[in-house]
Amino acid sequence: MELRHHLQRNLKRLRMPGILLNLEMRLQEAQENELGYVEFLSLVVQDEISNREGNNLKKRLKAAGFGQEKTFEGFDYQFNEEVFAPSVLRDLATCHFVEQRRNLVIGGPPGIGKTHIAKAIGHEVCRRQGDVLFRSTQSLLQDLLNHSQPIRSARLLKKCLKAELLILDDFAFRKLDQKESEMLYALADERLGRTSTILTSNRPPQDWYAIFPDPVISNSILDRLVSGAVKIIVTKGKSYRKEGIKVQADMPSTVIEGLGEGL
Ligand code: ADP
Ligand code: MG
Repeated sequence: MELRHHLQRNLKRLRMPGILLNLEMRLQEAQENELGYVEFLSLVVQDEISNREGNNLKKRLKAAGFGQEKTFEGFDYQFNEEVFAPSVLRDLATCHFVEQRRNLVIGGPPGIGKTHIAKAIGHEVCRRQGDVLFRSTQSLLQDLLNHSQPIRSARLLKKCLKAELLILDDFAFRKLDQKESEMLYALADERLGRTSTILTSNRPPQDWYAIFPDPVISNSILDRLVSGAVKIIVTKGKSYRKEGIKVQADMPSTVIEGLGEGL
């Protein structure tokens, strides 16, 4: 018993709570199943690793700022099957486009699951130990330009630039002024080809040009954000919020570009 206390104290000193938490159970298991030394050791080491990985994921999810977390496990693939083909979503869930540092645009009417899908991809990136930042575009730009909190803004900008995946939710919600556009340009330019950005929007990309103060800046920004991106533009679909939204029957439900290019 004395020896066991000593071991527990040492595990605490070594900061190995994963082993400590499961130790009694593993000792019992070892006795009951007459485990060999290596088997036993490998089990307890695995406990420590699993515990650390779990904690890492929790930290990443918190830092990503998802608010309400959404996952592919919690996604009903059948609900909007005609607009979001399950095979396309599974492709996106592999996060290959993030590894390839490409952007993803998801446009379409409200309530169809754009934000859910973006967050679920973010969750997958966190599981793969990537840094993610999820923000509504508007509030992110406001925070980045908040001159009353310069240190906070600078820290946030650093986080935006370094995140492997930045999710700009509700893009093109309203018109942007010169300062906001310049900040967005800086973000898009710095991140291009080095990291991946997801944009979700209730407006189709052809309407995005009009939200910037002039055509030169809109072209520069959209060229960087949209040109080489995977684009999933939904023209009709059911709202999950209120079932039965009216759709125009003569329109294709989804236009997909850029998939299959090694994604
Ligand atoms: P959008 O961003 O397209 O406006 P959201 O992704 O916010 O829509 O979806 C609205 C709500 O419906 C959210 O709570 C979301 O989790 C849920 N939702 C949407 N589509 C699905 C789906 N296919 N399966 C499960 N929940 C869904
Ligand atoms: Mg949304």
